[in-house]
Amino acid sequence: MAEEKESVGREVFDQVILPVYAPAQFIPVKGKGSRIWDQQGAEYIDFAGGIAVTALGHCHPALVAALHQQGETLWHVSNVFTNEPTLRLAKKLIAATFAERVFFANSGAEANEAAFKLARYYASHRHSPYKSKIIAFHNAFHGRTLFTVSVGGQPKYSDGFGPKPADIVHVPFNNLDAVKAVIDDHTCAIVVEPIQGEGGVMPADPAFLQGLRDLCDQHQALLVFDEVQSGMGRSGKLFSYMNYGVTPDILTTAKALGGGFPISAMLTTESIASVMSPGVHGTTYGGNPLACAVAEAALDIINTPEVLAGINERRAHFEKALDAINQKYQVFSAVRGMGLLIGAELVEKYHGKARDVLMAAAENGLMILNAGPNVVRFAPSLVIEFEDIEQGMARFEKAIARLVNAA
Ligand SMILES: *Cc1c(COP(=O)(O)O)cnc(C)c1O
Repeated sequence: MAEEKESVGREVFDQVILPVYAPAQFIPVKGKGSRIWDQQGAEYIDFAGGIAVTALGHCHPALVAALHQQGETLWHVSNVFTNEPTLRLAKKLIAATFAERVFFANSGAEANEAAFKLARYYASHRHSPYKSKIIAFHNAFHGRTLFTVSVGGQPKYSDGFGPKPADIVHVPFNNLDAVKAVIDDHTCAIVVEPIQGEGGVMPADPAFLQGLRDLCDQHQALLVFDEVQSGMGRSGKLFSYMNYGVTPDILTTAKALGGGFPISAMLTTESIASVMSPGVHGTTYGGNPLACAVAEAALDIINTPEVLAGINERRAHFEKALDAINQKYQVFSAVRGMGLLIGAELVEKYHGKARDVLMAAAENGLMILNAGPNVVRFAPSLVIEFEDIEQGMARFEKAIARLVNAA
């Protein structure tokens, strides 16, 4: 038996953790499906999904079984050797998408870092060392490494860390003319989230994504889709590019890929991948057997007609409940997103209050997210029980009533 563990409360956070987060006052200790319990035994319904990560809810039996089985078999060997789970997962991702080659990493930022490096390397080797311009979008989010915050379009995340990687241009999202004005033959890539997540749950217009595809083809630039948040079923299809019918050259996925186990992947074609050679890029944990075994189990479940069809069915329940709440309280100006990535924008009167809604929800036993100061975001399990949606929305209404009564 393990010896009894020391008890730790929320106040310890402020004493031991780098102050880059402001977590809620309660500490979750156990989860099952779409329910969470805290240290005091209080129960929460989870509409946050660990920020679009726990796509099959907490402790899904198939994921637990995969983790358990692989945990008793082989944990880690490094990329000096390959391993079976990594090869199986890569084959399945390739079978399910446009891709022909896969690179595994551990987080969304690292998958994007690999994507941006590949785009630059490819252009430099196949075209010219001067073909290095990356076009990205205002309010985009691509992760927290220095390259990815620099490509992300939010100065609050990239300022203050010294010189940034150069030759990155930001233009307004969903504005094709703005892209046309800056793209040229020195452009190596356009990087875009088909649905901006952190930037306020903003889906790209279909004509915009198709326009980006055409511009990339005209200028021999690569189209990179960051599907770290929008991927793995979130949009109602395995990847959101499948809703648009626009195929990227490079795609990144993370968050829901491991259902809560850290793993990410960059997908690309054989032709683009062939520019790389041993030693050019890598990471110690990439393709770790434990992570890949869990992700394979998650992919096997998510990429089925039943689960994918259930996503928009669940969205309809969310929309209906949000509509009813809005009829009563007039708090939302728009409900947007795709599948189970849902953003409810607050009317001007409540601008800046998204975090207050989140706090009020927590006090009523509900975990939700915001996406910027004005948008309440829901990214629940893709297999959330309908009963949990109804009960969670009843709790959400209480949080909204609190907001309205406090105004
Ligand atoms: C969360 C997110 C990232 C960063 O992923 P990490 O795992 O936090 O590094 C990158 N891009 C998008 C679109 C995201 O939502």
